[in-house]
Amino acid sequence: AHLARIDAVDEKVHAFLHIDREGALAQARAVDAKKAAGEKLGPLAGVPLALKDIFTTKTMPTTVGSKILEGWVPPYDATLTKKLKAADVVILGKTNMDEFAMGSSTENSAYGPTGNPWDLTRIPGGSGGGSSAALASYEAPLAIGTDTGGSIRQPAAVTGTVGVKPTYGAVSRYGMVAFSSSLDQGGPCARTVLDAALLHEVIAGHDPLDSTSIDAPVPPVVEAARNGSVDGMRIGVVKQFSGEGYQAGVVQRFNESVELLKSLGATVVELDCPSFDLGLSAYYLIAPSECSSNLARFDAMRYGLRVGDDGTKSAEEVTALTREAGFGDEVKRRVILGTYALSSGYYDAYYGSAQKVRTLITRDFEKAFEQVDVIVSPTTPTTAFPIGERADDPMAMYLADLCTIPTNLAGNSAMSLPCGLAPEDGLPVGLQIIAPAMKDDRLYKVGAAVE
Ligand code: GLN
Repeated sequence: AHLARIDAVDEKVHAFLHIDREGALAQARAVDAKKAAGEKLGPLAGVPLALKDIFTTKTMPTTVGSKILEGWVPPYDATLTKKLKAADVVILGKTNMDEFAMGSSTENSAYGPTGNPWDLTRIPGGSGGGSSAALASYEAPLAIGTDTGGSIRQPAAVTGTVGVKPTYGAVSRYGMVAFSSSLDQGGPCARTVLDAALLHEVIAGHDPLDSTSIDAPVPPVVEAARNGSVDGMRIGVVKQFSGEGYQAGVVQRFNESVELLKSLGATVVELDCPSFDLGLSAYYLIAPSECSSNLARFDAMRYGLRVGDDGTKSAEEVTALTREAGFGDEVKRRVILGTYALSSGYYDAYYGSAQKVRTLITRDFEKAFEQVDVIVSPTTPTTAFPIGERADDPMAMYLADLCTIPTNLAGNSAMSLPCGLAPEDGLPVGLQIIAPAMKDDRLYKVGAAVE
């Protein structure tokens, strides 16, 4: 049924970069056979899923939305891919994304944009726009995203779906193509809070193949999602997550959510987190710096594309020609920015300062979580904007990440879930819930209460 739905709508939506028809049917039949044989089934047996094209898959290409990896079929499965298979999930295919997960609209994909199923002329968010669009268009009931600076939550917000960035280190990064390693985090996307929790439990957990993986039990997210409640909880509203640049309808729906939380028995506490104002600036130095180092491996020798290798050119020339042809504008912009920020003489002024801001943001969160159990905010300042509107204005594009980025810098957990439609344009608004590290279950408890 989901393959038929993909056939019917994906030409217009373009959520998928690769559809694994045969593989999906084979997996589904294997589940049927297991069931018929009376064998024990995995926890998500037979449930179809759309996988962001940033996780390696042995039987499908992995492009990361880039020409430089066009046609590359990795020799191994990511830990997350393995866990999905072990849970008997049916992987439908790989979803569209901004190239190397750099963007907030999926317009930076080398394979063309994805449309927002609510209005195909608008962006589905990014970088994981393909995964969230697949959910909103009913092409898949579950999807996987990655969130370095909001790429699970912001697409969830603008497509009216649920997305969770687990605590940094909770879901293995082994086999997830690196963008900014100290921020990157895979997580679940779904249409309901409970569905997200069921997927969360399958993909999380310690992995010795990832040196930053947390060696601790997965928080009880499914139990929390089944027992939604905010009664007696202290919920923070941060001053810095409001003001100029926020769309009126987004603010209205957010304020209504706060009233709902109060009516369900929560106490709302106003918080001041002054360092959050510096979050965007710090992120857009740290992420490009790490990206400039991580993307050095795309040298035309190890993977994918190779341009100009005609026997007359040096290795350096072939690398340069390949990177020129294979990387898009935003990736080049970030590699240049990051290389500059890390160069000697500038390191302390840029990268060093950004790291200090990161510490201040972490401290603001620590202070906040002494007073409250969770923080709530709008997920993103506006609803889905038209495709093309911010494509030539990187600074305007970066503003979409205003509320999501502090969480990545501090490494704690956050969810976005729908909280109604903005009256002025009828488009979905996202409510963000933020919890301390390894208290991801609180997101589900609060989310299930207000869903
Ligand atoms: N919009 C952010 C960026 O462009 C978020 C990316 C992400 O979370 N992968 O860097």
